[in-house]
Amino acid sequence: MKQDNKNQNKQGKKTKHKLFKPRKKRSAEEDAAIQYLQSQYEQINPDEVKTFKDFPLSQKTLKALKENNYVTPTEIQRQAIGYALQGKDILGAAKTGSGKTLAFLIPILENLFCKKWTRLDGVGALVISPTRELAYQIYETLRKVGHLHDFSAGLIIGGQNLKFERKRMDQINILICTPGRLLQHMDENPLFSCDQLQILVLDEADRCLDMGFEATMNAIVANLPPERQTLLFSATQTKSVKDLARLSLSFPTYVAPHEQAETVTPESLQQSYIVCEIDEKIGILWSFIRNHLKQKVLVFMATCKQVKYTYDLFCKLRPGISLLALYGTLHQEKREKIYNEFCRKSNVVLFATDLASRGLDFPRVNWVIQYDCPENVDTYIHRAGRTARGVLGKGEGLLMLLPHEEKIVEDLTKARIPINKISVDPSKVMAPQRKIESLLSDNTDLKQTAQRAFVNYLKSVYLMKNKEIFNVQLLDTDAYARSLGLIVPPRIKFLHKYNKTIPNKNKEGENENVLDKLKSNTDDCDGSDQSESEAEEAVQCIKKDKVTKIKKDITKFNFHNDDDDSDEGDFLQVKKKNVNIDAAPIEELPTSKKKAKPLTKAAVAKKILKKKIKVNTTVKFTEDGEAVEDEKKDVKSELAKQFMNENVGGIDIEKAKEVLQEEDKYDKVRFREKVKAKHKEQKRKLKNKRKDEEGEKDDFGSQSESDGPDLSWLPDPDKLYGTKDDNGEVSDDNDDSELRLRDQSVSEDSDEDQKYHRPSKRKLLESKGIPQESITPRKIKKIEDVSASLSVQEAEALAMQLLQKK
Ligand code: ADP
Ligand code: MG
Repeated sequence: MKQDNKNQNKQGKKTKHKLFKPRKKRSAEEDAAIQYLQSQYEQINPDEVKTFKDFPLSQKTLKALKENNYVTPTEIQRQAIGYALQGKDILGAAKTGSGKTLAFLIPILENLFCKKWTRLDGVGALVISPTRELAYQIYETLRKVGHLHDFSAGLIIGGQNLKFERKRMDQINILICTPGRLLQHMDENPLFSCDQLQILVLDEADRCLDMGFEATMNAIVANLPPERQTLLFSATQTKSVKDLARLSLSFPTYVAPHEQAETVTPESLQQSYIVCEIDEKIGILWSFIRNHLKQKVLVFMATCKQVKYTYDLFCKLRPGISLLALYGTLHQEKREKIYNEFCRKSNVVLFATDLASRGLDFPRVNWVIQYDCPENVDTYIHRAGRTARGVLGKGEGLLMLLPHEEKIVEDLTKARIPINKISVDPSKVMAPQRKIESLLSDNTDLKQTAQRAFVNYLKSVYLMKNKEIFNVQLLDTDAYARSLGLIVPPRIKFLHKYNKTIPNKNKEGENENVLDKLKSNTDDCDGSDQSESEAEEAVQCIKKDKVTKIKKDITKFNFHNDDDDSDEGDFLQVKKKNVNIDAAPIEELPTSKKKAKPLTKAAVAKKILKKKIKVNTTVKFTEDGEAVEDEKKDVKSELAKQFMNENVGGIDIEKAKEVLQEEDKYDKVRFREKVKAKHKEQKRKLKNKRKDEEGEKDDFGSQSESDGPDLSWLPDPDKLYGTKDDNGEVSDDNDDSELRLRDQSVSEDSDEDQKYHRPSKRKLLESKGIPQESITPRKIKKIEDVSASLSVQEAEALAMQLLQKK
């Protein structure tokens, strides 16, 4: 088995670079061996199989099994492998830790081996697992037992590099994957095809087929060829005809070696439960850990937030043992690291959600603690099954129950789970209550985590299907909050909202909405892990559960104002804060219609309009403090004025268009004027600046402009006889109107000029008897060029000369 990490061209295409080993010519011997193996399949008798060698298996498989000390097949392997080799569809049910993984991996290897499967043949086998960790574990086992074969194997799970996977999908022969990621490739990846699929395996099949994965699995199955072998394995196998029909399994062989066993859990698993109050739980857990410092312990909790809080808190309390936390909202890399660390270490506590409850084969776990009541018997079996695994594995399980949750024990016993009640010695319980409270008062992050843990636990209970066991109304929430170190219990908004809808029987639809939103908001532990369907079913159940029952128990709840609790959206916001529903005196309840009438924004707006208050107006002021009228708001055109005066209801789009076009003309003029004014202002500033500079450079020591010689009378040829246009060409367009406009703008613009009685240049020239026509543009050009390089005095002298000449 080669790990799939080499470049290879698409099927059937010849390539210049041979990046993979050339296909070996199978010898005639090998063909003969395959033929012999296949001929033996029909004669397999599980009762006669003592070791793996008794199965007709390829040498490559047998050698790898031996290398890994797999000599004697387990019961499920003994019974299932034979049927699987014969090509039958299988429904495999066997206890946790009984070796189901090899029961489907060995047939996969043998099937592809006998079909002489090569890399170029594409995906031959597909194994689907409900969680990433389990998929990884199966992949690792496959590498161990299949490394002598020439197939390529791929692990396709969420949280990895999609692009990287995409390029290699067409080269994989055995694909281990989670449903979501597989479907993503099926939908998006043109390189990926399962058309050649020979075997489909669903590990933890009942979980893969439950409603949480329903749509995804249906879509996947629709993409698979119907002529294939299908193997389903689980400790809690589905026998639902509907499920089997979805997979086109009409007559699968049911293999359940432990069907008649006394217990459904491993015999070497010792199981017990305790009953305690909700506020005692954290102290009991802490004391347990302190008393088992040399053990490997796995603690299951209902929600990610609880796991996070307990982990953070216990880390700060320093129990003297390594702590780890595994839950779905963690980054994939972290998940892998934690998984591997827990596998490797021996004295360690792992807090986890049900993400870790299925299939994971952590070695040498001593204790499994179910801190929160499992959702159902199946969940109990899978959680407890993380210990006492394999042939020699031993372990203990402890279930912590609240008094009203004890009913689940009946279900467990009925399902053939041997479980005993034990009691906790109160003198041995050390609840670090004060320490927790002081930690929380110092650390707002930790406090927020505690609040989230509190709310999310209640939500999870609220959404559970079995209302006899999971009844949020029976929980002493204040005591629970205090036990988490929260002196002020967080507000339970979702319950308040729900309860508010109870009195109105017609609000069924609204209740649904609240619950829908709640579902989406709930601490969905692990994405793949928490089934949406469960929440859906919970909604159904709650709806049927006659709201009156909830109302009856409402006295248990106090609603608190805690602004720190930002865990929920606004839709659950409680309008009135600090209200104890039961304590509210009846006469204070809103009775009169007038009082109850809500103050809407529209009402406020109407009031303002009546009072003729101008709202939201901006007034601009000049530097002198005078108000500036906003020109934009004034309409200039007659059409617009008429339009405004008409003041008819609604909008006449066509008329409005015309008005806007009319107004646009005025706007353009206004804009042009503004641009001109701006340019003039810039010129003026530049002029002043130059003057200042010249003043500073004045060799005669005169600093101010007024002290210097008045040169304002000098003719400005540029203005008189034309300007350089933008293209650098001199324009001789100097008609009267142009001149007038310029003169006007100069006088308007520069008050200072008037102050100094500077005559207009035109007038000056006339007064000096210079006819305008007598100065040719070329001369002017020369003057302009020369004067540009002259000093003030030189320019003056030059001007005098010119005038004298004339
Ligand atoms: P299941 O899927 O039934 O829960 P696994 O396949 O995870 O169980 O196997 C549980 C443990 O038993 C693993 O550690 C595995 O290595 C070991 N195991 C499986 N088959 C054999 C065998 N034939 N001999 C010895 N150990 C085995
Ligand atoms: Mg398994």
